[in-house]
Amino acid sequence: MSETIARQQQPHHYHREHPITFSGGTLDRADQLRVNPDRLAIAWADGRARRVLLDGLDPQPTEEGLLLTEAIPDGADLADHALLGLREDGAPLFVSLIVNKSPEPPSFPPKVWQIVPLLSMAEAALYGGARSLVDWHDRHQHCARCGAQTHPIKAGWARQCATCSAEHFPRTDPVVIMLAEYEGKVLIGRNARFPEGRFSALAGFVEPGETIEEAVRREIWEECGVRCGRVDYLFSQPWPFPSQLMIACIAQAQGDALTLDVDEIAEAIWVSREDVRAALAEEPGARFLPPSSVAVAHHMLRWWLG
Ligand SMILES: [Zn+2]
Repeated sequence: MSETIARQQQPHHYHREHPITFSGGTLDRADQLRVNPDRLAIAWADGRARRVLLDGLDPQPTEEGLLLTEAIPDGADLADHALLGLREDGAPLFVSLIVNKSPEPPSFPPKVWQIVPLLSMAEAALYGGARSLVDWHDRHQHCARCGAQTHPIKAGWARQCATCSAEHFPRTDPVVIMLAEYEGKVLIGRNARFPEGRFSALAGFVEPGETIEEAVRREIWEECGVRCGRVDYLFSQPWPFPSQLMIACIAQAQGDALTLDVDEIAEAIWVSREDVRAALAEEPGARFLPPSSVAVAHHMLRWWLG
């Protein structure tokens, strides 16, 4: 147990009191139905079955904070849908894998970040999983082994190649996101793609052959030139843009001198609890603009504040 974790609220307590967007889904994923064609067909024909209606890949919240759904239309084909799972009353919920993505001009923050908070926590979690899955299908129409066409199998939870029979599964890419801590301050950075003033926790993909702790130390070293020792896990967040699992950690830095990788990080600063408090309160004189409340980095800073 590092000093920080001992001093702070336990991360799992924090997480329980401050739900993290895209976590906390309540749907029964009913994976036993995915590989049972008879039971899957019964679920598809169930009078209570519905499908989620996305706008491209974006959610369409109802006034009650639910995802917009519709009854399965006549003529719809089960082969074009994924079974997301069963609602608490047993009603099956599907999503169409046929997506009409409209090219959107890049904006920051993206439009979808403003829509997601209109959903309840459980529905946002459901949406995140559905979005990742639908987008994965859209981007994996061909076999990574032989290049032939693939088609959905296992109720939309895998694809199979028609030529070589290889099975392909939806990806989840682990990303470490971390605060380095030194003498009562934490290190945050401004990505070169972020607007002026907008800072967040450092982050990067876990590479093959690495543990979470090693990835945390490597990323902080590469991006900011800071060596770290102890690494503690805090909490995680599924991040459906397109399919990351954000693994939030805090690392104990061994010094505060910075050498930035300017291709990745435009600026990095050590901030105190007072700096973080002012930023999260969005006070006019704050040293930085905080990460969106949709993002796990927001919760990392809020947790660190205690
Ligand atoms: Zn193939």
